[in-house]
This record gives sequence, structure tokens and C-alpha cells, in this order.
Amino acid sequence: MKQQLELQFNEVRNRIQQAAKRAGGQAVKLVGVTKTVPVERIEEAMALGLMCFGESRVQEAMPKLELFPQAEWHFIGRLQTNKVKNVVGKFSLIHSLDRWKLALALQREAEKLETTVRALVQVNIGREKQKGGLDPLEVEDFLSEAGKLSRLKIEGLMAVPPYSTDPEDARPYFREMYQLFTKIRVPGVQMKILSLGMSNDFEIAIEEGANLVRVGSLLFGKRS
Ligand SMILES: *Cc1c(COP(=O)(O)O)cnc(C)c1O
Repeated sequence: MKQQLELQFNEVRNRIQQAAKRAGGQAVKLVGVTKTVPVERIEEAMALGLMCFGESRVQEAMPKLELFPQAEWHFIGRLQTNKVKNVVGKFSLIHSLDRWKLALALQREAEKLETTVRALVQVNIGREKQKGGLDPLEVEDFLSEAGKLSRLKIEGLMAVPPYSTDPEDARPYFREMYQLFTKIRVPGVQMKILSLGMSNDFEIAIEEGANLVRVGSLLFGKRS
């Protein structure tokens, strides 16, 4: 199992590097998505040098964070406001800020703890009913308001394009995200991170300008 993980990790790293070279040479951060992945495998990944992990459910994530506080943890799932207290001060980046009520809850909790909270705004780039994220047309206004919250540091955008068996179908959505990312100018907000791309489409995301990819099953195997 460990050898398999090492092979996959090396392959993912190489493919990230090649894609970045094709794109224009941006540095790309790899977040290993460990939802449903047991702690033994996370330990193995850390031994191989992967130190940044993404989790999408608070309850599942908490024991992992406690076990591996030396790793960098990102929250990538839908975040309920009543779970904000489990997240602020623990996760180093929240990828899924998608509504004003959540922005306020994060601000309040960060104030209470006298800390700041880093977040990406999630965009529903395919305008899918069942998916979280702001409509692309709402992003700029949202950032203008959220940029005024003193404890909230918005550092970029995140999206999950509509599911398709052909990863090339995601390319126009990634391109639209990159345009949003580079176009938006809002006081108090510095756009640094563009979080796009998962196991099946991370190379296309990088080619279109992503500088953070979230890879789960390609590293750790298919989730049951
Ligand atoms: C599960 C998940 C991933 C990883 O998906 P894989 O296809 O396993 O790489 C990435 N981002 C989000 C938001 C996820 O929920």
C-alpha cells in the first residue's frame, strides 16, 4: 500500500510539474484530499513529504487534525455556520466561503479568538442548482462587502465544475474562473489562490491558470 501511494504521489507531482510548465510556470500547491482516508495512510503520505490535506466534513476531520497538528489542513466542503467554531483557528484555509451569513459567522468567531481566518470564495461556475457557491455575477459585490470584515482574509477563488466523464469539458469553466480571478479588483482583497482541479482534471485546471489543486482518489485510491 505504501509503495502504491509513493508511486501515485510521484506521478501526481510529475504531472503537476509538466502541466505548470505548459501553462507558464506558476508554482502549484497540491492538497491531498483525505476524506474517507484512514489515518495510517495520512501518516504514510506525510512520511513521503505531503504536508497539506483537505477535508470536507468537520466531524470526520477533527480527530485527524488532532492527530496531525503539524500538517496544514484545508476545509473544502460545505460549511454550516454552527460548525464555524470547529474550523476557525484549526484549518489554515477554508475553500468554501459561499454566503454572507457564513462570512459573518467566521468574522465573529475569529474576533472571539483574536485571530484571523483565511478563505477562498466558492463560485458555482456551472450554475448548478444542487451545488454550493456564488453565481459568477455575484462574486465581485460579495467580495466588496466581505473585504470589509477585518478578521476575514479572502485570498482567492475555488470552484468545482459540472461533472463530466470527459475532463476537457471542464476547460471552459476553468478558463472563466481564471478570467474572474484576474479581473476582480476589490479593496481589502488580494487575489492569490485559484483552487481548481481534482483527480480527473487537475492538469487542465493548471493549464488554465490554477495554482492549487485538490487531489484525492488519484493519490489514495477510489473511495468506497
Ligand atoms: C472530494 C473532493 C476533491 C477530491 O476529489 P478526487 O476526485 O478524489 O480527487 C476535491 N475537491 C472537493 C471539493 C472535494 O469534495
